[in-house]
Amino acid sequence: MIEVVDLHRWFGSVHAVRGVGFAIPAGQVVGLLGPNGAGKTTTLRMLTGIIKPQKGSIQIAGVDAIAHPAQSRRGFGYLPESAPSYPEMSVTGFLRYRAQILHVPRPSRKTQIARVIEECQLGSVAKRRIGQLSKGYRQRVALAATLLHDPKVLILDEPTNGLDPTQIREARSLIGDLAQNRTVLVSSHILPEIERTCERVIIIGAGKVLADGTPKELCEQNTKGGCIVECKGHLAQISFTLKHALPESDLETTPLEGGWWRIKIQAPEMSDACEAVGEAFGSARIQIRQLRPTVAGLEDVFVRVLEASEGAEA
Ligand code: ATP
Repeated sequence: MIEVVDLHRWFGSVHAVRGVGFAIPAGQVVGLLGPNGAGKTTTLRMLTGIIKPQKGSIQIAGVDAIAHPAQSRRGFGYLPESAPSYPEMSVTGFLRYRAQILHVPRPSRKTQIARVIEECQLGSVAKRRIGQLSKGYRQRVALAATLLHDPKVLILDEPTNGLDPTQIREARSLIGDLAQNRTVLVSSHILPEIERTCERVIIIGAGKVLADGTPKELCEQNTKGGCIVECKGHLAQISFTLKHALPESDLETTPLEGGWWRIKIQAPEMSDACEAVGEAFGSARIQIRQLRPTVAGLEDVFVRVLEASEGAEA
């Protein structure tokens, strides 16, 4: 449904997007996650035809979005990072105006407006002026406006930016509902947002795709080599044994009661760190009461892939 290949964009000397590529099949809900300045907005602005890439290709719903931006726009709804608000207009008046701009055929405008009002739960405020609404409702109005031509693809840039926690929860739930029968690409720098809403995550940093997969896949890939052991003995001997068995490892040591230690081990080069630790402690006769692999959360993955990419750039 969305196919992006080797996308590049420079702003003067700033290489903001450096070879971004991904393919999103119909019906998938994908989060574009990255820190501020990673290139998310620039990528989405290229997808939506607002700016042109200097290199690369984009297909949305089978249309070449660079060669035919107007035709491509009919296939998706786009909610920009700061959607323009029209405070003097009523909700219905604004939707009527947007339907006109989106070339929704005149005979079906009323039906489409009624549909998006229902989809975005705007019935109770339909006659009110946009300027009188809460930020959460204004965002719903902006979302409704992206749906008037009933697009099968939704592109949302930081849709919960500036909302309070209750509004964020409501917006997330609404996006979940809208995603039921659509392909959605949603950007955010807020991790729980992506984790709760999306079945797939593309992590982007410094203009590049750093990781791409389901949250489960990404967590499993980044769990490799991690384990936690609780052991008893002299810390110097324990550390020596671990460093000998897993020379490239990072150790995080916490003292527990009764002379026990909890040690979190990260040894990315090991396929099974638990086995290596068990064997090394067995040979050194170090007492163990717990040994288990660590399971990375998406936050660990996010931090790890960004650190790894910064390390590679340095
Ligand atoms: P944020 O979450 O802060 O919006 P982002 O991931 O969306 O960040 P972009 O807005 O795409 O990041 O910016 C990527 C890089 O491109 C940044 O270094 C930014 O300063 C630069 N950039 C973006 N737009 C322009 C522009 N119009 N002119 C010059 N530089 C730009």
